[in-house]
Amino acid sequence: MVIDPLERWRAYGEKPDFAGPLSYGGAPLTQDPTLLAGFDVAIIGAPTDDLVSDRPGARFGPRAIRAASCPAGPELETRVDAFAQLRIVDYGDAAVLPADPERTHEAIEATVGEVLDAGVIPIVLGGDHSIAEPDVRACANRHGPLGLVHFDTHTDTGTEVFGVAISHGTPMYRLVREGHVNPKRYVQIGLRGYWPGEPEFAWQREHGIRAFFMHDVRDRGIDAVVADAVRVVGDGPVFLTVDVDVLDPAFAPGTGTPEPGGMTSLELLTAVREVAAQLDVVGADVVEVIPTAVASTDITALVADRIVRQILNGIALHRR
Ligand code: MN
Ligand code: MN
Repeated sequence: MVIDPLERWRAYGEKPDFAGPLSYGGAPLTQDPTLLAGFDVAIIGAPTDDLVSDRPGARFGPRAIRAASCPAGPELETRVDAFAQLRIVDYGDAAVLPADPERTHEAIEATVGEVLDAGVIPIVLGGDHSIAEPDVRACANRHGPLGLVHFDTHTDTGTEVFGVAISHGTPMYRLVREGHVNPKRYVQIGLRGYWPGEPEFAWQREHGIRAFFMHDVRDRGIDAVVADAVRVVGDGPVFLTVDVDVLDPAFAPGTGTPEPGGMTSLELLTAVREVAAQLDVVGADVVEVIPTAVASTDITALVADRIVRQILNGIALHRR
């Protein structure tokens, strides 16, 4: 069954954002893998935050981002209407289980896999950043080792956090070690603050991982940094992962490990669109959105929606 949230407003050509079944951007909803064929992009929720090291609440991210999502229509800068050019479906949430991160990750990997097996690009709404591991693994199992463009304050290449190996601070270490990410085609953008330390950066250098810091963005500008990142990643399948904490907390206060001195929303929105337009993005996720954090209400969900939308606009531009 496919549910079209727009159906009852068909005669009017558009639906009020606050009415009708909750789906990403008013996209049709299905949970049936046999009905995915023919779509270009599927939105998947991964509402889990059992593996955070600091503030919980990212489990509320997917619903908040859907509620904040803007309806179809062209973006004013590019004049791209991703909803007109791409067939977008909301595939619902993976069957997460509270306090059981192992089975939760299995469910996320299986759900992303169903989307990929139908020839559809998955865009996953987190959830804490540990979900990048099942997301990327599902993509790599079908496309081979991937390039990775990773926007974040943190490298997430720890071997463990508080002695825990599967954490929101370790997915990138594990994905490189397991061969799912080609470290020579892996770039990080937006690093700053006080974590990680020299052992992690030494490991990154050994493997040829390219790190762009916030001071690179400050000194050279986001366009130059993104152009370098696109050159490093080059041809071949790419996963795009966006930890919303790459933004300055002034723009996204609702996140698990906020760090002042980050990107503006404008820098990040332009950057993700450019990455998706220039590279062959086979999957993406947007993570660490805590809509319930104090004073954030839905400011962070709102910018997370626009990040997803600019990824969609980029994919639409890539196909022109
Ligand atoms: Mn982070
Ligand atoms: Mn992260």
